[in-house]
Amino acid sequence: VYAELSARFSASCNVCDSRRIRRYDHRIARMLPFFDFFECKQCGLVFVHPLPDTSFYAEGKLPDFPTEEAWVAPFVDCAERHAGGRGSMLEVGIGSGGFLAEAHRRGWDVHGVDLSEATLEHAREKLGLPNIHRGPLSQVAFPDGRFDVVAAFNLLEHVPDPRKTLLEFSRVLRPGGLVVLLCPNISAAYDLLVQEVLSGHDPLHINWIPPEHLYYFNHDTLRRLLSAVGLEVIADESSLTTALWAQHAERIGSHATDPRWAELVDRINRSPLPRGDGRLREHWADVARLVSNRVTWSLVSDVVELEKAGGAENACLLVARKPGN
Ligand SMILES: [Zn+2]
Repeated sequence: VYAELSARFSASCNVCDSRRIRRYDHRIARMLPFFDFFECKQCGLVFVHPLPDTSFYAEGKLPDFPTEEAWVAPFVDCAERHAGGRGSMLEVGIGSGGFLAEAHRRGWDVHGVDLSEATLEHAREKLGLPNIHRGPLSQVAFPDGRFDVVAAFNLLEHVPDPRKTLLEFSRVLRPGGLVVLLCPNISAAYDLLVQEVLSGHDPLHINWIPPEHLYYFNHDTLRRLLSAVGLEVIADESSLTTALWAQHAERIGSHATDPRWAELVDRINRSPLPRGDGRLREHWADVARLVSNRVTWSLVSDVVELEKAGGAENACLLVARKPGN
């Protein structure tokens, strides 16, 4: 028992190196009893410790993130705006490959690294992307200073050692090169609502999902980590993530479910069964699915308004620069 306790508390903070760590005593952590969550008293980083086995990524399925231009083009625009043009780009954790494919189409010299065999095959065979490498990044052996831009979207919260990962980003960047980094924000309007209003129930399952998510950042901890590895934050583009989410809400949002709701109520009205409990039960599966859908998207529509009004976007999107040149 003592050995286990000392092993648990031997962790130091990945962001600030402090050993002043306490249990993250929050409703959401208590809802995930198979994982131990801790919080750094110094900087507020939240993390899972000990680290669970993550070998499942190797045979992971292709993530179902959108690949269409409307979703990925704003991220490529963002990289181009800050880089001042097109050059060589490495994406670490390429997922569905949409971002890299768009950058490739625009003439960037693209390289991608991922752990999942399905993802690598999809990028090579379906998207026809060149320079797709099996990770982890530390084993690909890119030379120092190889890239103008290193991009990583929804990656840093998954890796066992985010500091080491960012140091590797910095190593493969040329002096003056840029990191474009996106990860979920646990201080986001959405997360606050999930924790404080929805009793920890996240209808979209987007943030508190160990063993996938091991580190839980907000703007402050992410900025600290970037500066701890010598990268200088030059832009905060987080509002872009709200704009994309708003687009999502427009397409699938609560109003889009209204005609389906009217159709379902009409179907119940026309049921040959007599009015009463049984009549509703006949349609119960459809009712439950559609109500859950409408509640979720109405929540997202509210969150988008909150994010626009108050900041606290669902993800942190920071652009940082390696000093030099
Ligand atoms: Zn810390």
